[in-house]
Amino acid sequence: MSDLKERDKKHLWHPLTQHKTAREMLPIVKAKACILTDDNGNEYIDGISSWYTAVYGHCHPFITNKVAKQMQNLDQVVFSGFTHEPAIELSEALIKILPAGQQKMFFNDNGSTATEIGIKMALQYHHNLGNDRKVMLAFENGFHGDTFGAMSVSGLSVYNGAFKDHFIRVKRLPVPNGENNSEVISTLKMLIAEHNFAGFIYEPLIQGAAAMQFHNAEGLDEILKICWENEIILIADEVMTGFGKTGKFFASDHLQQKPDILCMSKALTAGLLPMGLTSCTQKIYDAFYSDEIAKGLFHGHTYTANPLACTAALAALELLTSEEIQHKITEIARQNNAFANKIKYHPKVKNLRTLGVILAFELDVETDRYGSLRDKIFDFFMQRGIALRPLGNTIYILPPYVISEKQLQQIYLAIEESLSVF
Ligand SMILES: *Cc1c(COP(=O)(O)O)cnc(C)c1O
Repeated sequence: MSDLKERDKKHLWHPLTQHKTAREMLPIVKAKACILTDDNGNEYIDGISSWYTAVYGHCHPFITNKVAKQMQNLDQVVFSGFTHEPAIELSEALIKILPAGQQKMFFNDNGSTATEIGIKMALQYHHNLGNDRKVMLAFENGFHGDTFGAMSVSGLSVYNGAFKDHFIRVKRLPVPNGENNSEVISTLKMLIAEHNFAGFIYEPLIQGAAAMQFHNAEGLDEILKICWENEIILIADEVMTGFGKTGKFFASDHLQQKPDILCMSKALTAGLLPMGLTSCTQKIYDAFYSDEIAKGLFHGHTYTANPLACTAALAALELLTSEEIQHKITEIARQNNAFANKIKYHPKVKNLRTLGVILAFELDVETDRYGSLRDKIFDFFMQRGIALRPLGNTIYILPPYVISEKQLQQIYLAIEESLSVF
């Protein structure tokens, strides 16, 4: 028994936490492949790839070895005025798998800064061209991060409500669900007639923080097409959906209309080091390319294109594009579908959905009766050696691609059991 829990409470302030009502934080002392180990030696399957990052498993030796080697040679250098091979190689490798049209890449530190820069690119694009377009369009209930621009375009919630008087201007559109597509399109047309939109930011197909809600691909494509025709810059926030989770490299690959700007982070660096990346088309870049200095994108983070993070991302891409990982992704998707077919008619399973390695559903139980339902579901799975992060009554999994058949079955079994317990 360690005293980490007590020492944690003394000086640490955890993210997304109301410390007065929150429970103690569980110390994790080791992470290897799909297993997290706590300070008492208990093991848990990492069923959500540590917030969608460690999709190749934790501490993958292929990645850690490359980063360790890079560490001996070049750790950090200013990326303004200097460049280096890890960043160059990463850009060359990424271009091969990014959706058609992506051409330039701007480095940053995390998912929030990746979308923040996407928003700034869209706003300054129009500013540089002399267009009076200062309003952003976003989906209701979207989540794009916790910095001010990212917060502004996220749906209002406990996360960002305290700051709403300081937001950039944004209008919100309901997500298309297949049934409401024509209503959403009329709302969109009305909004476009009333506001000068600079850009539309969207999580393609799946809204992660909104409890893994899926929306309709045809509806989204129609929205994107109308925005594109109206010169509204399309910003795909693929921070969660990127790098294979939906069964394709990017969720945008499921859509006809390709984005002007694409935001990446999370699995970009395989959970090893923090980094974000915002890519864009030549058209966006060209609007900043000028003899006028002020038309440049004057945004920069100290650790921009950190060589270690670039090396981790490059190694991760090598794994992602390998036959082995591609096969694993297809296999998990197949097993998820089989499991979904097995439980979809269960009376407690509502709104069951799968795409790629993601499987989600709502537990159809009276949520008010269980004020702390979320905690109870969390504990239920932890007691069975599975780390999930239920959101309200939503249970979802996003397992590492390297999960074994046995571990995946263990998760399914616990989910089935949960249906008779709650
Ligand atoms: C997690 C997430 C972000 C924010 O990323 P951070 O690295 O946590 O700042 C932005 N957009 C989406 C879709 C995300 O899932």
